[in-house]
Amino acid sequence: MIVTRTLQEFDVARRALQGRVAFVPTMGALHEGHLDLVRMAKDAADFVVVSIFVNPTQFAPHEDFASYPRDVTRDATMLESVEADVVFLPDVEAIYPDGPAVTIKASAASHGLESESRPHFFDGVCSVVSRLFDIVRPDIAVFGEKDFQQLQVIREMVEARNMGIDIIGAPITRDELGLALSSRNAYLSAEELEIARMLNQVVYKVAFDVNNGADAQDACQEGTEMLMTCGFKSVDYLAYRSDWQRVLVAAWLGKTRLIDNCATV
Ligand code: AMP
Repeated sequence: MIVTRTLQEFDVARRALQGRVAFVPTMGALHEGHLDLVRMAKDAADFVVVSIFVNPTQFAPHEDFASYPRDVTRDATMLESVEADVVFLPDVEAIYPDGPAVTIKASAASHGLESESRPHFFDGVCSVVSRLFDIVRPDIAVFGEKDFQQLQVIREMVEARNMGIDIIGAPITRDELGLALSSRNAYLSAEELEIARMLNQVVYKVAFDVNNGADAQDACQEGTEMLMTCGFKSVDYLAYRSDWQRVLVAAWLGKTRLIDNCATV
């Protein structure tokens, strides 16, 4: 596995990859969910490139950019264990030579849900992903369904701009009690972790009810009340999107914002 930091180093490593390249962009603090994406990427292509970059343009000033967990040494060991070929660890200047700023406006899929509480978010995601695509020049890119709306936004961007990259969506990796793995789970206390495990159960229940003909708004309202009763501080959204056939949620547990989703079919 080759670890690269500068654009020049990356370019040398990239030129040596003669075959189909699958790309997995991440913000590091890796867990088994990220590794599953790498495994999927390996199955889909000859070589796998993983980037680790905590992207400043997708965080609002009051969000956790500064405190976002970073442990590149541990991340590299984990990536080695799943045989990633090239790791790219750019600094902010490499990604944003003119300073961190949004370069792309996200399209229709970005409306609602995450954007209601994080209006800056998808523009930042599209800006960094498009820049990384330019640098990495992948044939395939793998994104997790954990960030389901993000996956739709990326698909739209790639299609609208004719980027010619196959986007693969990877199923959500969960712990043994169903909690979706997330780098932000590291923020949770033992007590909060117990409560966090209710999130997927509530989303599954809402999806089950909707699937069985319940009124979606009523089911989501009931689910929101259940989350609040369990100990969540607030719920940014718990919603059914018929176009995606998914129930999606974002909720706060203490200072930590957790997201999850579940298919209704
Ligand atoms: P992040 O490092 O959180 O920005 O995530 C990088 C990629 O990993 C994104 O495509 C996420 O959707 C994906 N991902 C994160 N957690 C999970 C998970 N538990 N299951 C599947 N994919 C995940």
